[in-house]
Amino acid sequence: MQRIGVFVCHCGSNIAATVDVKKVAEMALMEPGVVHAEDYQYMCSEAGQALIAKAIQEKQLTGLVVCSCSPRMHETTFRRAAERAGLNPYMVEIANIREHCSWIHKDMEEATKKAVILMRAAVAKVNLNTPLKAGESRVTKRALVIGGGIAGIQTALDIAEAGYKVDIVEKTPSIGGRMSQLDKTSRPKWWRLRPMKISPSIHTARWRRSPALWAILR
Ligand code: SF4
Repeated sequence: MQRIGVFVCHCGSNIAATVDVKKVAEMALMEPGVVHAEDYQYMCSEAGQALIAKAIQEKQLTGLVVCSCSPRMHETTFRRAAERAGLNPYMVEIANIREHCSWIHKDMEEATKKAVILMRAAVAKVNLNTPLKAGESRVTKRALVIGGGIAGIQTALDIAEAGYKVDIVEKTPSIGGRMSQLDKTSRPKWWRLRPMKISPSIHTARWRRSPALWAILR
């Protein structure tokens, strides 16, 4: 059984003005495996990281959930803090209650309800996580495209144009997908009207010059 710590960040008023952070921490204590939960003003600050390290050591935590901002901002910060305190960094999960809750909701009750759901999902993930070891392996810069329809062919061409070797795998005897079964294709009517979206002046000029456009619209 994991011993999980949940840390709920206020981000000043960025989160705390819209999400009831104390309630999220309280609810966390009811989740399986959670032995510690607290909220703090700025979890990514030196003091916030020290608080996490202290809890890891004192409560012998085996996993962490930080309810804060996007993992793109501070996942590495928290993983490094956990590692310094002796915890495997891959036992840290982030619940993004800022971008996904407080920044997009006005109603505190709704935002808090969602924050609790995200926290619970992250706790469930940590309960199933196992410590990982980072490693390196050689990579062959070559792509495999599954499916030789139009999308597959175009993808392969784009990758090849970017300078990489590419292989297409197709289960049928020929490539081309549905398109290869058609003997005629034509542009849809709206295609000719595209200039209208790009530039109203071009559209107006063409309109005046081309009475055929009237026919297309009818
Ligand atoms: S961890 Fe993220 S949400 Fe918390 S104070 Fe830092 S930037 Fe704000």
